[in-house]
Amino acid sequence: MKFIPYLFIFFGVFSACSQKNEPVKVQLADTIWKQKLSPEAYYVLREKGTEKPYSGKFLFHKENGYYTCAGCGNRLFESNAKFDSHCGWPSFDEQISASSIRTQTDRSLGMVRTEITCANCGGHLGHLFDDGPTETGKRYCVNSLSLQFEPMNESHLDTLILGGGCFWCIESVFDEVKGVKEATSGYAGGEADQVSYEEVCSGKTKFIEVVSVVFDSTQISTLELLKIFFTIHDPTTLNCQGADVGYQYKSAIFYKNDSQKKLAVACIQKLTHDQVFDRPIVTELFPFDHLVPAEEYHQDYFEKNPNNAYCKAVIQPKRDKFEKSFKELKK
Ligand SMILES: [Zn+2]
Repeated sequence: MKFIPYLFIFFGVFSACSQKNEPVKVQLADTIWKQKLSPEAYYVLREKGTEKPYSGKFLFHKENGYYTCAGCGNRLFESNAKFDSHCGWPSFDEQISASSIRTQTDRSLGMVRTEITCANCGGHLGHLFDDGPTETGKRYCVNSLSLQFEPMNESHLDTLILGGGCFWCIESVFDEVKGVKEATSGYAGGEADQVSYEEVCSGKTKFIEVVSVVFDSTQISTLELLKIFFTIHDPTTLNCQGADVGYQYKSAIFYKNDSQKKLAVACIQKLTHDQVFDRPIVTELFPFDHLVPAEEYHQDYFEKNPNNAYCKAVIQPKRDKFEKSFKELKK
């Protein structure tokens, strides 16, 4: 029980989500908003107006990137959250992070609706409905005039390869982390180009169960990902993670460059120096060579098998730990 509260202090930057009644960060005089925004955008963002359906420039927009607040530039939605709702306004099934948008009850026009506003500047965006067709069940119905678009810069994508016991667990958590584009279960550390789950499970190969985490470095840093990694698994048990025992469950970081290696070493030294764990950290660092993707049935295992006993007993607590410790970093 020692290390979780301590991690909170050590890493220190993870505060709870901003409260709805807290003032927004960007507060400008009305005259400034009028200078900054077009009359149409001012009407929507500052006077809670609504653009005509099927009139907005982002309705059929499909580029890869981020939709930001037209008032302050706050990132609100990722392009992969956009779907065609046929309602006449751009629609999204998920906001980029729990702290990007605020909601409040809107009783105007004789209806009771949930208004959505930018959490950074208070600008009106649109409304939130519970009739979304995707798994989130949400439909963020947003005025194009409230939005701007920031194309994804592929050069900002980076990859971190982490072994922390069963890859189902690690993948399930990192899939929930803000800025993570893709988390893929696989095997690393061995020489062969191909290897099967059964061969890896024999413990006779040099392969370790790992997760390849592809992330947008403008949204989350390598250090933040390492902090999550050291919180959701136990780095003090050699070749073992809970009841999962074997070389393939080794705690390991496969670094792609010197910068990743230095960060990993510094992170371990800091945790050791501060005695965050009762026992020595045994996480091993290896230069990354290649990844063998795991079989399809291992990918998104938690999502595919939510009622599986292992998912409930082992994976869910790790997801809970992440949510509790890193609220600001949850998608
Ligand atoms: Zn804003």
